[in-house]
Amino acid sequence: AVRVRFAPSPTGMFHVGGARSALFNWAVARRSGGAFVLRIEDTDAARNRPEWTEGIIRALAWIGIGADDPHFEGPYFQSAYLEAHRKAAERLRADGLAYYCDCTREQVKERTGSEHKGYDGHCRDRGLEPGPGRALRFRTPDDGTTVVDDRVRGRVEFANAAIEDFVIARADGSPLFILANVVDDVEMRVNQVIRGEEHLSNTPKQQLLWEALGERPPVWAHLPVIVNEKRQKLSKRRDKVALESYQAEGYLAEAMVNYLMLLGWGPADGEEILPWAEMERQFSVDDVNSASAFFDEKKLRAFNGEYIRALPLDAFIERCRPWLTGPDTPWPADAYDPGVFAAVAPLAQTRISVLSEIVPNVDFLFLDAPVDDPASWDKAMKPGIGREMLTGALERFADADWTTESLKAATEETGAAHGLKLGKAQAPVRVAVTGRTVGLPLFESLELLGRERTLARLRAALA
Ligand code: GLU
Repeated sequence: AVRVRFAPSPTGMFHVGGARSALFNWAVARRSGGAFVLRIEDTDAARNRPEWTEGIIRALAWIGIGADDPHFEGPYFQSAYLEAHRKAAERLRADGLAYYCDCTREQVKERTGSEHKGYDGHCRDRGLEPGPGRALRFRTPDDGTTVVDDRVRGRVEFANAAIEDFVIARADGSPLFILANVVDDVEMRVNQVIRGEEHLSNTPKQQLLWEALGERPPVWAHLPVIVNEKRQKLSKRRDKVALESYQAEGYLAEAMVNYLMLLGWGPADGEEILPWAEMERQFSVDDVNSASAFFDEKKLRAFNGEYIRALPLDAFIERCRPWLTGPDTPWPADAYDPGVFAAVAPLAQTRISVLSEIVPNVDFLFLDAPVDDPASWDKAMKPGIGREMLTGALERFADADWTTESLKAATEETGAAHGLKLGKAQAPVRVAVTGRTVGLPLFESLELLGRERTLARLRAALA
């Protein structure tokens, strides 16, 4: 059976690139009826933090990858397998495939004349015993080629002569990532490695390690880098890459998943918005493109808007709830009225692209007074006619039927009296009542807000 793994290092916020790798692995595991192993590579004690591990597990659960699925296995923690890593290192040495080396970086540089030439094999045949300052190096073949058959990149050849004898364990016996990663994959019977392209340079070394350990190397697939609009590799310093920040803005998990699956892959018929089950059915790592994938936040937003609009109304209302009732709402908890929100929700559902946008769209209904935004005020009142519009609206609204139609008619009439079309005429009313220049359809909004509060806000604006 297919056994894939996702092996993140808990050294920071969980990244959209990591999520993409996880999803591709997940699709492969589920589609083939195999296993998805989650292994937390937590051996870098200086950079690891338990909260990053928790963040990874939480983020994976958010995108649908978790322990409640029979294909999921783990999480395993690399730090628990140090003994196996040491044993493997020892075995390689016993088999003559690794040797101790006491060269310092400076000595190597002096001999080779460069920092970049790699290790020169000085200690290969010195037969050093383990001891302080002695690292264990893997003896790579002198000639021939190592061929990595990559499911994405095709056949990639590496001349063995160019692969240096690399360190597999430090002088204190602790294994390096390159070894630990292979040993764990061997122990966990991983047979397909699907991971980011940044690891491709490790792959020939790792393939040699697999062979040296007497194992058949896995099938490799290296996923293309993800770039921003300037074609730069996404970076946590420059770009918004934390999956959590998208979640916090109100991206739907299913939209995010759908979008991430398209970073390097696409369904055959070009229909990009499709449910997970369909992506899982169609996905094959052989169809992943090796060209770098553009992370287009605008497109992601548009996707999210489509997913929001496709929700049944009650699901939409349910999804909005955390933004409307959480501790961070701008209105007091007891001001929120779910009945009022249910009435306005259909208007909002067609207009927002991320769930957090629900707040500025409906806050006028739950705040005591509309938000105070001088720039919106100036913009809406600019024509100079603003005050007259508000006075006229106040008069006509006072005894209008409190329905969308008659509020619209009353505003139209007031505008006409000042030579304004409805669009211009309603702007001062909107800003007086909602504090904003854009928002939900105004007259429906007024109807919901009620006569008393609407008139009070118009009066307050004129005061
Ligand atoms: N722990 C490695 C990383 O987070 C993963 C290496 C791999 O997938 O083989 O980059």
